Amino acid sequence: MDYQSILNSIYNEVLVLDNNGKIADYIPELKRVNTEKFGIALIDNYQKIYTVGDAIEKFSIQSISKVITTALIFSKIGNDLWQRVGFEPSGNAFNSLVQLEYENGIPRNPFINAGALVIADLMLEHFENPKEYFLNFIRELAENENINYNEIVAQSEKENGYRNAALVNYIKSFNNIKNDPDAVLDFYFHQCSIEMSCEDLARVFQVFSHNGIVPRSKFKFLTTSQCKRMNALMQMCGFYDQAGEFTFKVGLPGKSGVGGGVVAIYPNHYTVAVWSPKLNKKGNSFYGLETLERLTTITEASIF
Ligand code: GLU
Repeated sequence: MDYQSILNSIYNEVLVLDNNGKIADYIPELKRVNTEKFGIALIDNYQKIYTVGDAIEKFSIQSISKVITTALIFSKIGNDLWQRVGFEPSGNAFNSLVQLEYENGIPRNPFINAGALVIADLMLEHFENPKEYFLNFIRELAENENINYNEIVAQSEKENGYRNAALVNYIKSFNNIKNDPDAVLDFYFHQCSIEMSCEDLARVFQVFSHNGIVPRSKFKFLTTSQCKRMNALMQMCGFYDQAGEFTFKVGLPGKSGVGGGVVAIYPNHYTVAVWSPKLNKKGNSFYGLETLERLTTITEASIF
C-alpha cells in the first residue's frame, strides 16, 4: 500500500474543506495554539513511518492520555478494574455528572472524565511515584525521551477545573476514590497536559495494533484478551458522543482529545494520528475525522 501518496492526497483534499470547527477554550492555555495546524502520521506494521504536514510538532494530548493510564492499570490489576469502572458507552457528555448518582459512583467507562479520575486514583494507589512512572512509560512507548508534562497547561486546567473537582469529590462520596481528591486531580491534570506529536502518538499506540506487544522491546505489556478489550473500549467510547458516527464512517478503534489530536488503530496493519485543533460540535477534531474517513475509504480497509 502506498501510504505516503494516499496521505498526501488526503491532506490536500482535507486542507481545502471549509473548517468551521472551534478550538477548545475552556482550558485557557489551550487557546494559544495556532488553529491552522494540521499533521498526519501513520506507522505501518513494519514500523515504517509516513508523515505529512505538522506531524512532528507537539500538542496537548489531553484525553488521549486516558487510554494509556487505563491500559497501565488493566495490565496491573486485570479484570478487578471493572469493579471500579464500567465498560459501556455513556451516551452523555464526557464531563457529565448525572449518571453517577443513579449508578452509585461507578463511572460508565474509563474514558469519560469520571472514569479517568477513578483510573487516576488507581494510579496513585499502585505506583509510588505515578507522575514519574507514567511519563517514563510514555517515553518508552514513544521511543522519545523528549516528552514532558506542560506545567502551564496543567496549572491552567487546575485553576478552572471546577467540574472535574466536583466529579472527584462526588465519586469519593460513594467511596470509589481512595486518595485525597486534590492529589487525584493533580495527577489527572498532569496526564492530560502531556505534549506529543502525531509521530509520537502513532508510535505509542502501536502496542494496541501489535496485540499488546511493544514492537521495539518485544515486551508483552497486555495479554491478547486485554488488548482486545482496550481496542473495544476505544471503539465504543473513544470519541465522546460521536463514537457511533466514528465507527460508522471510519470503522477503526481510536481516541480523540480536546487538543485536536485523534489516534486510530488498525490492528496488525497500522496506527495513525492526526492533529488539527479546530473541533466539531461533538468535541472531535473536524479535520481529524475527515482525514480518517478518507483513509479507510480509499484503502478499502477497516476492521469491519
Ligand atoms: N483535561 C480535559 C478535561 O478534563 C480533557 C478533556 C478531553 O480531552 O476530553 O476536561
